Amino acid sequence: MKSIFVRSGLVAFGAVAGSLLLVITIVPALGGVVDGNAWLMCIICPLATAWPASAFTFWQSDRLKQAHRDLARVHAQLAAAHRRLAEKAQRDDMTGMLNREAFFAALDGSRRKADRGALLIIDADHFKRINDNFGHLTGDDALQKIAAAISRGVRSSDILGRIGGEEFGAILVGASDEEAASVAERIRSEVEQIHFAPVDDAVVRLTVSIGGTHCPPDGTVPELMRAADARLYEAKRRGRNLVIIGEVMVRAA
Ligand code: GH3
Ligand code: MG
Ligand code: MG
Repeated sequence: MKSIFVRSGLVAFGAVAGSLLLVITIVPALGGVVDGNAWLMCIICPLATAWPASAFTFWQSDRLKQAHRDLARVHAQLAAAHRRLAEKAQRDDMTGMLNREAFFAALDGSRRKADRGALLIIDADHFKRINDNFGHLTGDDALQKIAAAISRGVRSSDILGRIGGEEFGAILVGASDEEAASVAERIRSEVEQIHFAPVDDAVVRLTVSIGGTHCPPDGTVPELMRAADARLYEAKRRGRNLVIIGEVMVRAA
């Protein structure tokens, strides 16, 4: 407010000076005389018009600038909220991993970027029994522990998703066959080491079976999923708690 008063005062002062200059140059040139009343009018008129008019203009302009700043702030907040929502829409609530759609999109994207890497499908063994014996909430708890163990097993550059109820996917970006086998075995072992005791005297063993495939440069998402699924099925068939990648069985239970 103070700044508006000062700025409009300066404009009014300029208007008075301009008005005086015009009168003292033009009136004598036209043969007139600048008398006391003329001086008075030269000062009062600009003061009475320029001051309130410029004060109003400055006030409006300041309000407009403030509105612009508010709008920019709200825009930034909205963009951040939008980013958070878009990120949340890609995540599975229970595990924080990518959901099925986002995982397949990531798999598709990673295929375009690199011609190396591996896909793992990780499925909890006999998970239905946990629900049947201890209830669904205990099952949820076990699932979260398995998800955490999987996260500990992968490298920071790998991408994880929950692609089914008790089924997870891992994209091992740029991994060689050896690296993929060692990551898969680490996941299997991390899950096996979970101490899960839903009731005091009952320790429940948690294990996963893992099927994996190397990602060839021209492999499509359905082809990769089919290949990894077939290995997972084989791992289940051979007794579970097992990793099979390509033609390699990493470790028997
Ligand atoms: P397998 O070793 O052959 O994979 O046996 P499984 O019992 O794990 O497989 P099955 O497909 O027969 O059962 C999967 C079970 O996983 C059944 C389903 O209720 C349970 N499940 C899936 N999603 C969730 C979940 O979010 N929470 C809980 N508690 N259970 C889930
Ligand atoms: Mg299962
Ligand atoms: Mg399953």
